[in-house]
Amino acid sequence: MREKRSDKAARAGAIVDRLALTYPEARIALEFRDPYELLVAVILSAQCTDKRVNEITPGLFSRYPTVAQLAHAKRDELEEIIRPCGLFRSKAKSLTEASQAIEAHHGGQVPTSRAALARLPGIGNKSAGVIAMQLSAEAALPVDTHVARLAFRLGLSTERDPDKIERALQALLPKARWTAAHHLLVWHGRRVCLARAPQCPECSVAGLCPKLGVELAGRKRPRPTNQRS
Ligand code: SF4
Repeated sequence: MREKRSDKAARAGAIVDRLALTYPEARIALEFRDPYELLVAVILSAQCTDKRVNEITPGLFSRYPTVAQLAHAKRDELEEIIRPCGLFRSKAKSLTEASQAIEAHHGGQVPTSRAALARLPGIGNKSAGVIAMQLSAEAALPVDTHVARLAFRLGLSTERDPDKIERALQALLPKARWTAAHHLLVWHGRRVCLARAPQCPECSVAGLCPKLGVELAGRKRPRPTNQRS
């Protein structure tokens, strides 16, 4: 039987409640000291683990400590430093072009609104949401590969497009819970609701989850267009 919208919203709220109890420490795993470092780390995190990004960024920030210095970085030198993150050519291009745009249009200061961030070269809507959540009080529920996978398995959204999944989740949860829901779903996806081997018997929200597609885990499952590990 199709779940009523009000019941689904109540279930979504209960899932967030339970995950909040399970992971009171849930937060962004990327390490940064200021908006510039956050922007760079988020760009590098596309299809790369946060752990790997955190290993690379200290050397990168030591070599290019400001937006201005990154904007004028030699491309081949920058590529060599970020090579371990993967997609290093396109990420180097995004880093220099985003830095140049920040210099040209924002006085060298990383903008804090999601809309302004999303207009920077190499910054998609998801990345803009992740950055805006940290730099401002702007609520967002950006959808990475973990949020997309959990939204489907939990029966909260059958959409595949990350922006549509985000809108579906936002419609189920009060705005004040969007940012927390993002962090909690990412943490749960990294620790328990793993892509290939979800640990349902250990899961704190198992009683609230229809486990959609779980029997196919490892063979066929929905994938968002903006993957991030
Ligand atoms: S019950 Fe299984 S599929 Fe559902 S959230 Fe938990 S680990 Fe994921």
